[in-house]
Amino acid sequence: MVDLLTLTLEQRVPVQMQGETAGFTWQWLGEGLLQCTPKTAYRKTMLLSAGIHGNETAPIELLANIINDLFAQRLTLAVRVLFVFGNPEAIRHGVRYLENDMNRMFCGAYQQLAQDPETERAAHLEQVTAQFFADSEVDTRRYHYDLHTAIRASRLPVFALFPYQTQPYDDFLIQSLKAADLDALVYHNAVGKTFTHFTVERFQAASSTLELGKAKPFGENDLAEFASTDQMLRAVLADQALPIRQKSDIRQFKVVDSVLKQSEDFQLKLSADAPNFSTFQKGELIATQQAGDYVVHDQQVWILFPNPKVKTGLRAGLILKEIE
Ligand SMILES: [Zn+2]
Repeated sequence: MVDLLTLTLEQRVPVQMQGETAGFTWQWLGEGLLQCTPKTAYRKTMLLSAGIHGNETAPIELLANIINDLFAQRLTLAVRVLFVFGNPEAIRHGVRYLENDMNRMFCGAYQQLAQDPETERAAHLEQVTAQFFADSEVDTRRYHYDLHTAIRASRLPVFALFPYQTQPYDDFLIQSLKAADLDALVYHNAVGKTFTHFTVERFQAASSTLELGKAKPFGENDLAEFASTDQMLRAVLADQALPIRQKSDIRQFKVVDSVLKQSEDFQLKLSADAPNFSTFQKGELIATQQAGDYVVHDQQVWILFPNPKVKTGLRAGLILKEIE
């Protein structure tokens, strides 16, 4: 039995570093890292991560419960899985990050920052991920679900992002996200430095970043809100049929542009607490700054992750169009 969340919160090393249950062998690979391999043949290799942002506690609790159920044999393991709690120090402090956003550090981007425990953690996660995929049976399909909760409210409450990729999108991944009753899928149009971008680019994994409602402290989450995602992940881990979707058709969006903050006078024409997927119509103003106004030319666009407070030179929001 490895209680990965308690070990991580208390910064403890387990009494036993590896072992086995009736159905799988396991190895504790360091803080917030647990690898489980079924004793029978498996067809999928899965990276399940949460807590890359330390204050996004619900997905961490969700994975902790899944781990406990695997050890208690309430859940059968049929895929090889690596559980990752991304930023343990930030998790212990209940903050998104300490110095820099870890979900902008992958694909080697940590090398551009001053070395600190978070850049070291990002480098370590890259190594552990590479080892995990390299050690897995060659003909298995690789998956990565990176679980987050959002800072702001959302008009489409739960959604997933696909990192930019040139490989085809994996049908099973899309089916699983539909089965998790997500409201929307968003397809990125540019290279990023996220954990999922790393696993797509380096390991051709089928990867997605899930945004599952709002960030709250430990103990304040209503995990029932995350039940559909929980059921989907359990079905995937057990290699059983995906749950039946309960919602209307999932909506799909592509990123068509980003709003860049070019100077300090930058203003977004949105209230500070405007939700994700706020929309603008043709002719409306999205942002103003010295370099020029951002006016909508399409019939309708949506904005994701609006944030006028970013540093100058960074993106202050993604502009989306719906895919018909
Ligand atoms: Zn996050």
